[in-house]
Amino acid sequence: MFQITVYMYSMKLTELVKHFELYGVCIDCRRMEQLDIASIVAAGGSQLDVKTIRARVRCRQCNRRTADIRIVYSGPCGHARGFHYRD
Ligand SMILES: [Zn+2]
Repeated sequence: MFQITVYMYSMKLTELVKHFELYGVCIDCRRMEQLDIASIVAAGGSQLDVKTIRARVRCRQCNRRTADIRIVYSGPCGHARGFHYRD
């Protein structure tokens, strides 16, 4: 389940974090790094949608705005990974 839908791009981070993980991608450096959703939310970004996040993703290695992310399904409620989300 690696499909990215238009619907998901308009999801808010607080909804997304329950089932999905986000990864920033840099084609030039061939890097793919998991975004720290928890700290984005902690910094007041809980209402941002994926489209907005994507526009801000920057590669730490080449300092380029890659505007490329992957959304990965992480299981129902994240319980598969022992992750507990509190509202
Ligand atoms: Zn890069």
